[in-house]
Amino acid sequence: LTSSTPAKPHTKWSDKQSKALADLTEEFTLSTAQLEHLTAAFIDQMQSGLAGDHKSSDLAMIPTFVSGRLDGQERGSYLALDLGGTNFRVCLITLKGNHDVEPNSESFKVTEHLQEAHISELMDFIAISIKDFITREHISSKIAKHRSNSNTLELGFTFSFPVTQTAIDAGMLLRWTKGFNCPGAVGSDIVQLLQEALDRKEVKVHVAALVNDTVGTLLAHSYKYPNTFIGAIFGTGTNGAYVEATRSIKTMPTPTAKEMIINIEWGNFDKDKRFLPVTPFDNKLDRESINPGVHVFEKMISGMYLGEITRNILLHLIDRRLLFDGTSSQKLNAHWSFKTEFMSQIESDTSPNLTSIAQILKQKLEICSKAQIDREIVKAVCELVGKRAARLSAMATAAVVRKGLSDGGHLAGDGYPLKLSEKHRVFDTAAGVNKSETAVEKVHERTDSAVVHDGNLIHVGIDGSVFKLYPHFEERMVEGLTELLGSRAKDLVPLNIAEDGSGVGAALAALIATKNAVHSR
Ligand code: BGC
Ligand code: MG
Repeated sequence: LTSSTPAKPHTKWSDKQSKALADLTEEFTLSTAQLEHLTAAFIDQMQSGLAGDHKSSDLAMIPTFVSGRLDGQERGSYLALDLGGTNFRVCLITLKGNHDVEPNSESFKVTEHLQEAHISELMDFIAISIKDFITREHISSKIAKHRSNSNTLELGFTFSFPVTQTAIDAGMLLRWTKGFNCPGAVGSDIVQLLQEALDRKEVKVHVAALVNDTVGTLLAHSYKYPNTFIGAIFGTGTNGAYVEATRSIKTMPTPTAKEMIINIEWGNFDKDKRFLPVTPFDNKLDRESINPGVHVFEKMISGMYLGEITRNILLHLIDRRLLFDGTSSQKLNAHWSFKTEFMSQIESDTSPNLTSIAQILKQKLEICSKAQIDREIVKAVCELVGKRAARLSAMATAAVVRKGLSDGGHLAGDGYPLKLSEKHRVFDTAAGVNKSETAVEKVHERTDSAVVHDGNLIHVGIDGSVFKLYPHFEERMVEGLTELLGSRAKDLVPLNIAEDGSGVGAALAALIATKNAVHSR
């Protein structure tokens, strides 16, 4: 298993160094059995979330009011707004039919000030940016070509935070994540806040739909692959959305459609750390974050946090004089100074002397790594943290696939070559994870399915910097998926990048909200 072996050192590590690295490897490596266990716990929490049993579930499982299927022939031009990280984007998206999209967008920086300013200040800034974009791009005349009956522009809003929705165009913010902390927003209707700002600034735009980025990603991917089942983000934060049979959603009053997209909010999986193998390095990070005690899973996976976990480990090794001769720097001592981006560069360095690792340490962290051994240790630590993130990401994805394939699930009985069968028990006392003997359904591939065509693939649309830029992330995820779903997982559950999921998805949501152009099944 490549996942359990750290980078082979070229130099001789001291016994203490080898021992420390072996301990870390033990702590950070997730066996197949551990992943199985987590998968079972994940499905459990999905189920209690759907049942509205919030005391025992950490997964919000939010109904999105987005139903029906796209066929890729939908047409029209819509404004889209994408807010959820350090940039927000205003887009004009033209859906051209034939699975074809013409995007046009502009990015604006959300300064640190704005990330913690009062929500009305942030919304006013957004409203003005939309106004500028419309004027600069002559949007009104462009859209008029497609929409002759109205002079109000319709906008889809991708807002990448946990929001409980009451309609496709209404939803209340549950909590901030990813470093945002604007007062005046939690508990308020996000659509209303934006609409009020647009009205205040006299921008003739109507907010037609509000979607999470995972939902947008799922929709955007569906425009290309109509049977997309999951939309996932592995970026600054992490989360997934999938298609659920509405009869399974106990929290919905009277289902009108057969299926609905559910925003899982999987970043909050197992926030009480009953199953996740959190380490002291994770606990330290959580305690020092602006949202301690929540989104613990996200903090083990996503781009905002991986660098900080790595930094915590490096400091631990420095304090024991096993790294850099026991010397740190002011930079490395500072919270959040070690970016996940550095890990990507470090893991990419395969040169014999690890020269770019030396460079990053020097330029970004003011650390002089005289010895090759130091650079090897840094690289090995990055690998441990990066692999664990990818394997946990695979676990969440596999859990959702299993849930879909299980009895009553949206994919059940649909002719998928992946089948659930043979209930068996996973019981990992050695790892001491959990003694509750959860019955796990092992996925087996049907051997008689000779032909696999696009209609019976389980498509996963993905966006996010970690998935797109972190070296080996996808490959490690596929390895985990293979352990959990079987040897053909790579072909049967294809992971693909959903290009501009947030922008295109928001436009599609606006189309669904205004035109009702999708076929409900
Ligand atoms: C948010 C989710 C979002 C994810 C990815 C998380 O922090 O809670 O709503 O989908 O980040 O952007
Ligand atoms: Mg985003």
